[in-house]
Amino acid sequence: MKPDLVQLDKAHVWHPFTQMKDWMNSNPIVLQSGKGAVLKDIHGKKYLDANSSIWTNLHGHNHPKINAAIGAQLKKVAHTSALGFANEPASLLAARLVQMASLKIRAGKKADLKKVFFSDDGSTAMEVALKLAYVHSLRTGISRKPRFLSMQGSYHGDTVGAVSLGHIDLFHKAYSGMLFKSDSVMAPYCYRCPFNQARPEQGDAREYRKCRWECIDAVEKKCTQQRKSRGEPHAAFVFEPLMQGAAGMIPQPKGWLNRIASLVREQGSLLIADEVMTGFGRTGHVVASHQEGVQPDFIALAKGLSGGYLPMAATLTTESVFNSFLGDYSEFKTFFHGHSFTGNQLGAAAGLASLDILESASSLENRQRLTLQLETGLRELSKLEHVGDVRQQGLVAGVELVKDWHQRTPYDLREKAGIKVCEEMSSEGVLTRSIGNVIVLMPPYCTTSSQLQKILDVLKKSIRKVLGGC
Ligand code: PMP
Repeated sequence: MKPDLVQLDKAHVWHPFTQMKDWMNSNPIVLQSGKGAVLKDIHGKKYLDANSSIWTNLHGHNHPKINAAIGAQLKKVAHTSALGFANEPASLLAARLVQMASLKIRAGKKADLKKVFFSDDGSTAMEVALKLAYVHSLRTGISRKPRFLSMQGSYHGDTVGAVSLGHIDLFHKAYSGMLFKSDSVMAPYCYRCPFNQARPEQGDAREYRKCRWECIDAVEKKCTQQRKSRGEPHAAFVFEPLMQGAAGMIPQPKGWLNRIASLVREQGSLLIADEVMTGFGRTGHVVASHQEGVQPDFIALAKGLSGGYLPMAATLTTESVFNSFLGDYSEFKTFFHGHSFTGNQLGAAAGLASLDILESASSLENRQRLTLQLETGLRELSKLEHVGDVRQQGLVAGVELVKDWHQRTPYDLREKAGIKVCEEMSSEGVLTRSIGNVIVLMPPYCTTSSQLQKILDVLKKSIRKVLGGC
């Protein structure tokens, strides 16, 4: 007799970011297979993967090239330890990532992101960046008591260091007693601003720009305060470039990141780019920071690194940071950090195949086509009575649900507006997950035009059905 998978799950599996009391009363979908942008459950029902399986999948499920790469690697070996041994796919992938992360900066000087530390997921990639920056700034005298600056509403993962940098009360407050203190600065996007891209007639463009740029002054103030009170700059400024994901898909205005990055650099602080969500072309460029001409000292990559197939992450950094950890064995300057699956061979093989696909002309063409189609579709959605702000960067979009169009009154989170809309979408064959009142759309790059149109149509229909209005 076949096991009852729902019963087994409910008996034993604890799901992330999930109120399990609600889960126990639900009828969860059990996913079994996938092809391209389509996932299939155990009953054979098909769904479009509209958030790329929590922002991980790049080129679709069951991609023949990634499958072949994993299969070929599997015939050799699945995993060997990076503690004491090198391996072929990890070395090749590190070299490809360094090449990808190089940005010819102004003076024609090549950026020097040369070193790659592999780990398992976005949180560990950020944890590694934090620890490296902490020790490097102590050893080079940037700071005696390293302190970090991050952005309001930021989310960098769920390990304790990453949580310390985060500023989403709902997620982070419970752990406040166990965290180190980090400074935070205002996010550049005031989405309660009377003007927004989707409905320009609603407000004053000047006011919109003003409220975005005000936060540059706030950063400057924080930096000056830090210098005055502590006599040294922040060790590093940590940011999600172009779009703050878990904050509710909050985009940054053009030129903003470049300004902030120069300002923080002038203070002597390092730059840590969390590209866990934005990396690998989600927001346009392969490295989102490069879209703003910014070359960070650290880039954290995860989610799409293996094409979204296997848990693998990387923290890229400079030779200068690397050198801070060099010395005679007896000095114990070693980077004392590592995970059992660091440099996993299967993950690295998948990553190499994924980069090949990403760099192909057809993938770029698809991304451009989907981005334009998404833009048009979102413009239509923004006309709905219960849609407030609509935000997009490349193939990442957030659609904000509001009680009232004119005042942009938000739904109380307890009303579960986002959750209900997503449930309705899933009954119509489209899977995504909301962030509070914001519905996220982030389709895999292989999504066809008709599939994307279905995602947009189902979202529109679901908002109307669940929240009413026209
Ligand atoms: N940073 C960012 C920007 C993220 O979006 C996420 C995950 N959503 C993380 C870090 C953490 O990644 P992971 O869930 O793989 O630990």
